[in-house]
Amino acid sequence: MVRTRFAPSPTGFMHVGNLRTALYEYLVAKSQNGTFVLRIEDTDQERYVEGATDVIYNTLQQVGLQHDEGPDIGGEYGPYVQSERKDIYKPYAEQLVREGKAYYCFCTKERLESIHQDGEFGGYDRHCRDLPAEEIRKNLDAGMPYVIRQRVPLEGSTSFEDAVYGTITIENKEIEDQVLLKSDGYPTYNFANVIDDHLMHITHVVRGCEYLTSTPKYNMLYDAFGWEKPIYVHLPLIMGKNEDGSVSKLSKRHGSTSFQGLLEDGYLAPVITNYIALLGWCPKDNREIFSLKELEEAFSIDGISKSPAVFDYDKLLWFNGEYIRKMSGEEFRTAAMPYYKEIFGDAEKPYDVLDAILQPRILKFKEIPSLLGFFKELPEYSADLFINKKSKATLENAPVMLRAAIETLSAIENWQVDTIHDALIALAQSLEVKNGTLLWPVRIAAAGQTVTPGGAMEILAVLGKEEALRRLQLGLQ
Ligand code: GLU
Repeated sequence: MVRTRFAPSPTGFMHVGNLRTALYEYLVAKSQNGTFVLRIEDTDQERYVEGATDVIYNTLQQVGLQHDEGPDIGGEYGPYVQSERKDIYKPYAEQLVREGKAYYCFCTKERLESIHQDGEFGGYDRHCRDLPAEEIRKNLDAGMPYVIRQRVPLEGSTSFEDAVYGTITIENKEIEDQVLLKSDGYPTYNFANVIDDHLMHITHVVRGCEYLTSTPKYNMLYDAFGWEKPIYVHLPLIMGKNEDGSVSKLSKRHGSTSFQGLLEDGYLAPVITNYIALLGWCPKDNREIFSLKELEEAFSIDGISKSPAVFDYDKLLWFNGEYIRKMSGEEFRTAAMPYYKEIFGDAEKPYDVLDAILQPRILKFKEIPSLLGFFKELPEYSADLFINKKSKATLENAPVMLRAAIETLSAIENWQVDTIHDALIALAQSLEVKNGTLLWPVRIAAAGQTVTPGGAMEILAVLGKEEALRRLQLGLQ
């Protein structure tokens, strides 16, 4: 039975890298009918940020990554918050001490700082590794503060197989005698992580490749306990494109780097999920647009690549537009409505006309208020907007066209795109001018700008008869 876990530390926001980890953990589990566990890793009290767990829950909910076990819903292997598991870790550290695989270290902070200052040795100098038993007893009896460190083998090397990066080998002598239990009784991050993954029967550990070099340390702990190791799936770096065309680790100067930031920028949650799924994973058929359900079916670990993935904001924007295009009419209206209200308040409007204009063209819903701004307030415009060569519209014929249009339109009782259309086309015919010669000045007077979403008839229909006629009158001045 496949069991994966998303193990975020509550640090305040959901970076796209973390969200990708969560998504892949979820997909590894769901593509194999497995279980997806949420565990909050909050042992590092210094990094704790108020409200950060809510960000985790909200994000997972918004993208639809429903966990099967976790702090809020429980499960067989809880508690699922590390600070509530504090008492679990110490006996495991003591077990390793008894077995000679770990030791008490009484070095003071000052001493540790002084060895780091010398700079000769990259880590702890193993000063307490072989203290005589009596000295240890004496120190413990005297209540001297201590940490527990792992006795890492001094010779040989440690290898492991990563599902993405292949075989990774590291010389044991390069690994420090890592602290397992801190002097305040809290486990270190690495120790708690291994104990919990074991106790929660995690089969696959998916995480960013920044953890690749610490993995031998984790494995030494599994070896010390004689526990089976999980399958490791390390994910490639996420890069951003620089202005000069080079790439570097994704950061704020490339654009928003958190899920919340991307939502605020106007990207839709399912689009973000879809796009992030492709940052390091390639489907067999090069398809690009996926719902979460489709990802669950198509995903497999062997499609994950180790080459860095580039977060391309233009591509994300394209995805957003594609997604909008595929929405049902009802979905589009629901998403667009808050923006329509910004312009029209609670006024009844022929929203179907606006839907039909906007759904094929917008890339973000956020664009709507500025696209429709002229409906709310007629921009100030200069008379030369009435001139258009192609339509044969001139400053001389514009007032003639507008007067004729006002007269014809005033007679319409059923104010709709169709009736307006038929009336204006018939008018152009009777005036013996091109449709454009009539429609150009009408649209300019109605919108006050040359570029508009929709044509003259749609704009008049949305304005409503009274306001439309008022604007055409103004165009005469
Ligand atoms: N708590 C770690 C983080 O937030 C997760 C490490 C892991 O998945 O093992 O980055």
